[in-house]
Amino acid sequence: MSRSTRAIINPDAIRNNFRQMSPGRGCTAIAVIKADAYGHGAVTVAKALAEQCECFAIAICDEAAALREAGISQPLLVLEGPHDADDCRAAKAGNLILLVHNQQQLAWLDELEQSQRPEVWLKVDTGMHRLGFNADDIAKVLSSYDWLKQQQPVLVSHFACADDPDNPNNAAQLQQFLALTGSLALPGCMANSAATLCNPASQADWCRLGIGLYGASPVTGHAAAEYGLTPAMTLKAQIIALHKVKQGEAVGYSQTWTAPQDSVIATVGIGYADGYPRHCPNGTPVVVRGQRGQLVGRVSMDMITIDVTHIGEVALGDEVELWGAQLPVDEVADWAGTISYELITRVSARVPRVTG
Ligand code: PLP
Repeated sequence: MSRSTRAIINPDAIRNNFRQMSPGRGCTAIAVIKADAYGHGAVTVAKALAEQCECFAIAICDEAAALREAGISQPLLVLEGPHDADDCRAAKAGNLILLVHNQQQLAWLDELEQSQRPEVWLKVDTGMHRLGFNADDIAKVLSSYDWLKQQQPVLVSHFACADDPDNPNNAAQLQQFLALTGSLALPGCMANSAATLCNPASQADWCRLGIGLYGASPVTGHAAAEYGLTPAMTLKAQIIALHKVKQGEAVGYSQTWTAPQDSVIATVGIGYADGYPRHCPNGTPVVVRGQRGQLVGRVSMDMITIDVTHIGEVALGDEVELWGAQLPVDEVADWAGTISYELITRVSARVPRVTG
């Protein structure tokens, strides 16, 4: 029998979360399935949403191939745009929309025959200062290329602080964005999950839904359940050893946890090579037999150790939930000093994804 460590992906949860975050009339939601759909499997997620979603977003052109091989036919918006002239040449045949953010990319596209040019959207920097043309330059950029002006490209921007809805930077960015789409009479795409849920004024013509689709919270300090979102990934592993340790005995590498009383310690078949964060400290919750246990001792490459003293009957082979249906990934991310995005995208290739 093989190791039973699994990430169980729930397509119904993904569909429900997409519905739950539906923007208002006039705004079309793009499902963000970059980075293998935040670790859930891009093909699985695209198939789950194939009936509901008109367009998917990926980060780089290379992420398109597996989706096309699987028969996904919707346009794919490439959020980082083309990385070279080959990306530009291949885009039209692949039904890719290139999100262009610099002059070099426009120059590659300008070299193409008109019939070979893909659809292009334009990224504008409204305050994130990561990607995008300066807002003051957009009109000039448009007037420099007839083919671009004719396309009436969608203007795209990204909030720096959407996860903090009261942050005044959100209003400043949105104001600049709406002024630009208004004055140039171009369609817009700005909101991510948090902005779509918390700031309907930012929805524009298109919005881009990522983290909320996967049932993690888009808003810092608030639980996903508050927005009616349910976890799409449950990460599970089995107990592979049980040990009784005496009060005062230490567990694991560097002996970072010492038993405060006689304790029962279960060793679980998942470690940092599977994507369980090595930074999780003593006390990080796990779920065994419907009850909370806690991580004790260092996370090893392939194993963790948990204290199950108070859980009663625990047996070899019992399933342990590391996060998911019974334990929000946001909670574990807090313990690890990171965000849910990092935890779910880092579940490694060694962990089979199964739908269920
Ligand atoms: N748009 C861009 C440009 C992004 O980088 C991301 C996520 O990283 C998203 C949209 C989706 O954001 P969220 O996952 O917070 O919904």
